[in-house]
Amino acid sequence: MSDLNGKVIAITGASSGIGEATARLLAARGAKVLLGARRTERLAVIAREIAETGGEARYRALDVTSRSDAEAFVAEAVAAYGRLDVMVNNAGVMPLAPMDALKVGEWDQMIDVNIRGVLHGIAAALPVMKRQGGGRFVNVSSIGGHVVVPTGAVYCATKFAVLAISEGLRQESTDIGVTVISPGVTKTELGSGMSDEAGLKALKEFRKIAIDADDIARAIVFAVEQPDGVDVNEIIVRPTASAF
Ligand code: NDP
Repeated sequence: MSDLNGKVIAITGASSGIGEATARLLAARGAKVLLGARRTERLAVIAREIAETGGEARYRALDVTSRSDAEAFVAEAVAAYGRLDVMVNNAGVMPLAPMDALKVGEWDQMIDVNIRGVLHGIAAALPVMKRQGGGRFVNVSSIGGHVVVPTGAVYCATKFAVLAISEGLRQESTDIGVTVISPGVTKTELGSGMSDEAGLKALKEFRKIAIDADDIARAIVFAVEQPDGVDVNEIIVRPTASAF
């Protein structure tokens, strides 16, 4: 067993892609995982499959745009397992479009999920970790938190925000670890419901060199497996062929 044996880890956006791969890998390494997302039928299947292979998993409906949902999510981890060691704020959306398409509703959605969702996760889990005297946040940003590309202005802004929030939290915390994971282009469902032609074209181009969700999950596990007192603050994982 690895150092994860028995660690209690809550993961938002665990119904597909990076969140799902992370939940499966963490559970395989001995963590007790709580999965959250809106598509509970998918969560149920993933949790069942984890249990069938000897892992420990629960799930709960979660909309990260709701503060009370985030609080109930964290409360469930504590009620079921007695503590919360790691909060993985992974849920995100990416409807790409040029600014002049004025997709203001989608801008709001990205701000609500990608920024407010992370803040709600922090607000819910931070008091628990403070009480325990320890814990770790893993906040999923993006390569879009480092560079801006056309059609990605608002998405990138939300991911820059995740970096800023995480860095501020890290500086203020002597007892709590903070890790930012910045994936490059990864094969997942991200952007699948996108409505804008230019956004779809950009996504198709990016995806030509995409890596797998498991490649990102391994980086998250690496950060979480570190011993107490060691804080891996950021990991960028790009496809080797990526220019930006
Ligand atoms: P997916 O679309 O496969 O997964 C996104 C997850 O977020 C789903 O589980 C979805 O679940 C969940 N989600 C979306 N909105 C909400 C909400 N309001 N409340 C709760 N959960 C929500 O994409 P990825 O796995 O790629 O995305 C995971 C993270 O990785 C995101 O933050 C994304 O920005 C980031 N990322 C991804 C990259 C990529 O190329 N794939 C590159 C860089 C960063 P449900 O719909 O069931 O609620």
